[in-house]
Amino acid sequence: MDTSVFRLEGVTKRYGDLVALNDASLEVGANEYLSFLGPSGSGKTTLLRVIAGFEAPETGRIFFDGRDITNVQAHERGIGFVFQNFALFPHLTVMQNVAFGLTNGKTRVPTPEAEGRAAEMIELVGLSGMEGRGVDQISGGQRQRVALARTLAMKPRLVLLDEPLGALDANLRSRMRNELRAIRERLGVTFLHVTGSETEALAMGDRVVVLDRGTIIQTGTPGEIYDRPASPDVAHFLNRFNLFEGTLSNGSFSASFGTIRAPAATRADRDCYAVRYDRVKVLPLSAKPADGPALKATYIASEYLGSSIMSFFDAGQGHLIEMEHHLSLGAPETYEPRQDYLLTWNPEQAIVFGREAAI
Ligand code: ADP
Ligand code: MG
Repeated sequence: MDTSVFRLEGVTKRYGDLVALNDASLEVGANEYLSFLGPSGSGKTTLLRVIAGFEAPETGRIFFDGRDITNVQAHERGIGFVFQNFALFPHLTVMQNVAFGLTNGKTRVPTPEAEGRAAEMIELVGLSGMEGRGVDQISGGQRQRVALARTLAMKPRLVLLDEPLGALDANLRSRMRNELRAIRERLGVTFLHVTGSETEALAMGDRVVVLDRGTIIQTGTPGEIYDRPASPDVAHFLNRFNLFEGTLSNGSFSASFGTIRAPAATRADRDCYAVRYDRVKVLPLSAKPADGPALKATYIASEYLGSSIMSFFDAGQGHLIEMEHHLSLGAPETYEPRQDYLLTWNPEQAIVFGREAAI
């Protein structure tokens, strides 16, 4: 049985010589929340624009709801798009903005009906009472909700969101994350959400798609991506791993921390050793770790992040090592600035990449 609502098959999009999207294939289930993570310029917006029908791919097919929509016009695809800059009409009210697509679109819903449907969406995004306000008389977070309500009023089965929370401040962003998930669950539609923030991608997606230079380099649940990044680049984008360049040879990895056995390694285009921030342990300089790495490093400073504390160490030659202590595990240790410590970790918990790895 085919339960996918949406499928990309080998989609490539070029701008002149630049390959913005390289042979992208993807299958999305009904009622799924997918987040797309990648650095700036990795092709995230291009991917959404191709799906929406604003750009035509050079090769590949796009299937939606059981039909091939590769050559279907954007406004006939039944796919909603929420833009990063909201793209609201500044001279219209909240109600007029939300109802705009209904009263002016292809189907031209009569105004009373359009306003009824718009009012439902305004309530859904928590803006009841603001229908008559101009969109220049509301806050950034409220404009974001108007943009979302306007898209949802068209009853799309698939909603594309391009960095929808990027313009909001940190507090509002985390509140809107929860609301977006709740709204999606209530409507039962599929969301494809592009973000440059690894925290947002891991927190929001049922699955995360990682893009780099136009290529999908990993797709998985947040847990799978976090526990088994497929490459040093994925580990880097997640912003939760200390990465060491070095050499994998005969089942051992040699780097600034010495030589450690590395029985399991993942094949990659370069040799790289990854240790999650929350796996690092800090010992006094005089300690002698029995087995495993011992990396001398100077404590710099710590930063409170709410549920955890990040501590920063200088391991020399400009290599900053980050250590995360989850406060749920107990009170944090305190360290002396400019003092040297030994950093260690359980080698079983490291992720090793290498050119000579078996798979
Ligand atoms: P992201 O959204 O991940 O930041 P984009 O999809 O916007 O990345 O861009 C991917 C690549 O395609 C970038 O190198 C960008 O400069 C290029 N690109 C995007 N749109 C165009 C365009 N209309 N013309 C030429 N190059 C473009
Ligand atoms: Mg973009």
